[in-house]
Amino acid sequence: MDRHHQGLSQRLRGVWAGVALALIAASGAGQASAEAYGGPLFDAHMHYNVEAWDGKAGPYPPADVLARFARNGVKGVLSNSRPNEGTRILAALRSEATSEPLRREAADLQVVPFIRLYRNRADYDNWFRDESIYSMVQSEFARGTAGGPYRGIGEFHLYDSANANGPVAAKLMRFADQKQLAVLAHVDDVAIDLLMAHASDGGRTLRLIWAHTGIGGPSPQRVEALLQRYPLLMGELSYRPGLTCDQGQLCPEWRALMLKYPQRFLIGSDTWVNQRWSSYDALMQGYRTWLGGLPPEVARAIAWDNGAALFGLR
Ligand SMILES: [Zn+2]
Repeated sequence: MDRHHQGLSQRLRGVWAGVALALIAASGAGQASAEAYGGPLFDAHMHYNVEAWDGKAGPYPPADVLARFARNGVKGVLSNSRPNEGTRILAALRSEATSEPLRREAADLQVVPFIRLYRNRADYDNWFRDESIYSMVQSEFARGTAGGPYRGIGEFHLYDSANANGPVAAKLMRFADQKQLAVLAHVDDVAIDLLMAHASDGGRTLRLIWAHTGIGGPSPQRVEALLQRYPLLMGELSYRPGLTCDQGQLCPEWRALMLKYPQRFLIGSDTWVNQRWSSYDALMQGYRTWLGGLPPEVARAIAWDNGAALFGLR
């Protein structure tokens, strides 16, 4: 073998080593995707808006959504709705269900009620400076639900992160902090810092659930920096751009982030429009697919344990 061929053969060996590594990685991913996660789920981003139940009649009345939760193994839900009546209806089902099948399914579901800040669509763009929203939150908190006290506020949106410094936004963050309410926030990474600054100890005490873990798509590195800075920040994963890659499995950098911070992520449906209810089974199956590609204890943490720990579920 002359030097030229020796060099070629070494290069080829290098190529084959690369191919072999790629095959090992692919077979690893293949094995991981073979079995979907089969344990309980906590849906950390569920809306039961008036369009869904429409005065209890439909198209997705309480019996229908309970059946969806049951067949998908969803044992707990973070519920919020426009208006709050939808959440109150779900929270009351355990004690007030009128039929036996409904009572049985309701007994199997733990509802974590959140106060929605919106009475109507117009409130989306004004809540952070509207004192009447603050008053509404106070009276709703005092009222509670038939299933127990409210556990958080949100989901709210900030389309301009500077509005995190609106007077009502600041007051609501302090209120949540004092009452140990969690916050479900659909905001960008800049607004996370601004919202946290309203809470005590530089935001280290505020239980903020970051809806979609940043809708504008901050990099996993930026997400990690925020997770490090705020020990109670949690990332909810619906509509998260860049989350999954081949065969519905996590992209490598997200997988690495979840392996490093298994206690900091939650899954959610975000049933903000009725179309999301119609695809609820597929959404949950999508989560089960990539959860199945994680080590079992990490999958179980993200699927259920983290939400259960946050809200003291059994
Ligand atoms: Zn939402």
